[in-house]
Amino acid sequence: MKTKYGFTLFTIDEFEAWITQQQVARTVLSLQMHHTWIPNYSHFKGNNHLEMQRGMQYVHKVINGWSDIAQHFSIFPDGTIATGRTLEWNPACIYGNNSNALCIENIGNFDKGEDEMTSQHKDAVVRASAAICKRFNLKVDADYVVYHHWFDLGSGMRTNGMGITKSCPGTNFFGGNSVEDAEANFLPLVSAIVNPPVIIPPVDWYGSVTAHRLNIRNLPSSKGTVINVTSLGAILRVYEENNGWIRISAGNQEWVYARYVMRLGHGVVIPKGLNVRSGPSTKYNKVGLLKEGDAVFVYEEQSGWYKISLDEHWVAGNYVNLD
Ligand SMILES: [Zn+2]
Repeated sequence: MKTKYGFTLFTIDEFEAWITQQQVARTVLSLQMHHTWIPNYSHFKGNNHLEMQRGMQYVHKVINGWSDIAQHFSIFPDGTIATGRTLEWNPACIYGNNSNALCIENIGNFDKGEDEMTSQHKDAVVRASAAICKRFNLKVDADYVVYHHWFDLGSGMRTNGMGITKSCPGTNFFGGNSVEDAEANFLPLVSAIVNPPVIIPPVDWYGSVTAHRLNIRNLPSSKGTVINVTSLGAILRVYEENNGWIRISAGNQEWVYARYVMRLGHGVVIPKGLNVRSGPSTKYNKVGLLKEGDAVFVYEEQSGWYKISLDEHWVAGNYVNLD
């Protein structure tokens, strides 16, 4: 972190921590995405972040006559991010649409054939946008995260790129500056950080219910409330064992008594086709055919053959790859 000329420069890690601490009285309802066009990557020397920030402030205040630098944040080619205008003021970034907005300027010209955004810069834009959306409860969609290009310069109306518009944040900004481009490319990257995909824990083992009916309880105990019932032959995924009880849900407290669950082997079929027979040898009739990659549950083994259901369905064990 570095402070100079009244601006603070953060790494993206520092920014993510800082933004969560900011108290802002103004209501924030949108996040605007821009590129500076000028200055561009050729003006960045690796250590002149805040000099560039001061230069933009000079143009905005002295030349344009605005109250301060237009943007709240500038993101640089090396993935650092600088503060600009106070968060308590509207930005001066999209004509007619600055109320309740926050504005990010990306240093560079991201029109096709111009600056190629660095991977550090991309990472910082995505993470800073996600951190801002989280902090101000902005939904990650094209109503709340907006590109300058979507607004008519004359009327200030949202036209989604029709009429007279800037190309900002660039015709090559994360693959394009249209609403469809944002929805296909940029917004999913932001959304994945704000709402990370649920990670499913691995299954510890599989089991088959051996009781006619088996209560599912909310605790690993017969004192737990019955929340559901499973029945004979049902295949359960087991994630945890606790004192004779097993948890059968990845994310929820759903427990059954382990005594009524038979542990099964689990594997996949190796060859293109595998005959299922009515008994544990080639003398028995074919009753079915499995194909490569099919999952099988193994109930029993007899002389190299696997019983793969409660019924008399058998396959040759050599052709199954067990976990
Ligand atoms: Zn712009």
